[in-house]
Amino acid sequence: MRSSGDFHTHSTASDGVLSPTELVDLAASQGVVYHALTDHDSTEGIAEARIAAAKHPGYTLIPGVEMGTDIEGAEVHMLGLYLDPDDGELQSMLTRLRAGRLDRGFGIVEKLRGMGIMIEWERVQQIAGDASVGRPHVAQALVEKGYVTKVADAFDKWIGRNGPAYVEREKMTPAECVQCIVERGGLACLAHPADLANLDALLDELKAAGMAAMEVFYKDYSPETVERLRQAAEAHGLMPLGGSDYHGIFGNNEPLPGNIPLPDSAIDRFLEAAARLPGALAMEAKSRRLGAAG
Ligand SMILES: [Zn+2]
Ligand SMILES: [Zn+2]
Repeated sequence: MRSSGDFHTHSTASDGVLSPTELVDLAASQGVVYHALTDHDSTEGIAEARIAAAKHPGYTLIPGVEMGTDIEGAEVHMLGLYLDPDDGELQSMLTRLRAGRLDRGFGIVEKLRGMGIMIEWERVQQIAGDASVGRPHVAQALVEKGYVTKVADAFDKWIGRNGPAYVEREKMTPAECVQCIVERGGLACLAHPADLANLDALLDELKAAGMAAMEVFYKDYSPETVERLRQAAEAHGLMPLGGSDYHGIFGNNEPLPGNIPLPDSAIDRFLEAAARLPGALAMEAKSRRLGAAG
């Protein structure tokens, strides 16, 4: 299924394979007209994508970001659309998010080493692989070195909350993230929500915080899942959006940008909201000024 909108894609500015230019060219070639670049905790790809976008008449690039936030026992991803990459406060928040995970894992390893428990930070990163480093990876390294016999013992002895090697990580809740996006003039959209527990309660909270949309038409969701999420969105007064979450790394089965069942009616609704969005209006005014100057 082809759609003229895709509100969730990744480039080499995070863990995607295509450069921002290659991604924009691909999306435009697939008939995508409204395309959001949403790299993980980074807007580094936007400047290059904007230059590439100018070569495609009728194509609109929407600057965005996908932020990792935490709830008890799970990670929640939030898309922020129409955020200005030149916004200094936005950038300091993204820097904190990127640094948070690595800093904490490294801090725990340093504390352990200070206590004479000699595990290697490099090994912890290897164990984590593509996943973001967490305490379970540190625990596995401790098991490997024979300091404990099982992961749970590492938590009990050293790295659990209040343990001697525990380090607090800077966390952001989804609601704080939504508030931040809205304050900066952007539109907040909950990403790939199908597997989240207590979705209704979370949607209530995030709607109250100012979230406007949620992903319903997501790359590989079944028609049943799409329908369940569409109803949830409607019940909570949220716009149904969607994206391919294209990374370019999953082989031939990965849907290309725009190859999602996102209907035109959802795009129209998004554009109506964008027409009143402070961030989108500011961007339009800025590009008009630059156009007039050039
Ligand atoms: Zn995600
Ligand atoms: Zn993503």
